[in-house]
Amino acid sequence: MSKHILVTGGAGYIGSHTVRLLIKEGYKVTVLDNLVNGHKESVPDGVEFVELDLGEREVLTKFIEHNNFDAVIHFAAFIEAGLSMKEPEKFFENNCVNGTNLLNAMVASNLKTIIFSSTAAVYGDPVSASIKEDHPLNPVNHYGRTKLIFENILSMYAETHGLKYTSLRYFNAAGADPSGEIGEDHDPETHLIPLIFRTALGKRKSISIFGTDYDTKDGTCVRDYIHVNDLAQAHILALEKLFETGEGDIYNLGNGHGFTVKEVIEAAEEVVGHLIPKEEDSRRKGDPAVLIADSEKIKSKLGWQPKYTSIKDIIETAWKWHKDNPGGYEG
Ligand code: UDP
Repeated sequence: MSKHILVTGGAGYIGSHTVRLLIKEGYKVTVLDNLVNGHKESVPDGVEFVELDLGEREVLTKFIEHNNFDAVIHFAAFIEAGLSMKEPEKFFENNCVNGTNLLNAMVASNLKTIIFSSTAAVYGDPVSASIKEDHPLNPVNHYGRTKLIFENILSMYAETHGLKYTSLRYFNAAGADPSGEIGEDHDPETHLIPLIFRTALGKRKSISIFGTDYDTKDGTCVRDYIHVNDLAQAHILALEKLFETGEGDIYNLGNGHGFTVKEVIEAAEEVVGHLIPKEEDSRRKGDPAVLIADSEKIKSKLGWQPKYTSIKDIIETAWKWHKDNPGGYEG
């Protein structure tokens, strides 16, 4: 019988791509999402969907008790680093408190396998050119801090309750499924690539470049962009490993190449075939200058290999989604 996976935040950007892949790989999937940021339209037909907030402790505990899940993939969280600097309490409540509600409900039902969406933001300002998992953990924004707190909670539950978990520390998720059926749609949108395309589509006047005085080759921030389907694939491999051996771990997920904000805009201009209006702006609070992954660990331990290694290919899949869905899921 196929294994049954509960995906929290499964109607979100990375969640919805992972749900598709899980189904393709023969898993039974239930999506749990409060639809604050998720989109019901992204849940494939035939997949069970439960609208529930992880803050609803009692309902959540009963829901997990009445199902027979084999594992949880936990995406549900607030994700915008910039916003976290303005409203840390919301991030703590959702990412730490509600996440712990989930773990408590799991432990109460003897469900002890979980994959957690963590982030490169747990590292803060890098002390090396590329970041391995043993790099110091020193987040510089509250988003990264809440994710690190939750990694620590996972480790406590592993020690005390026998939880088996893997944390995947994503660098910058980008792109969309080439089918064009699902993609990135946040409200408000804060991410670079979707905002570049909104500008290209005339829905914004210009794209702001946050900071041009960083110590990088052109003064703008460097990030490592990784295709959302490559991230999804890593979840499947991590899950299989947990099922086979019960051994969890922590893995970075990136391409290992950094691109500046200006280079990303140039690549997008090549993809859309025209210049995109841009303006230089001040730094965004909480942004490290450079974040580049060393993902050798997951490659060697789980055999993960990103399929999308060129920034242009990644951006092309994002453009297909934005061009065909200029208003996102709603429009
Ligand atoms: N960025 C920017 N203009 C924007 C949005 C983002 O210059 O309108 C920069 C941001 O400062 C960061 C990079 O683009 O250096 C990626 O930001 P994003 O919000 O997409 O992802 P994050 O790195 O915060 O996960």
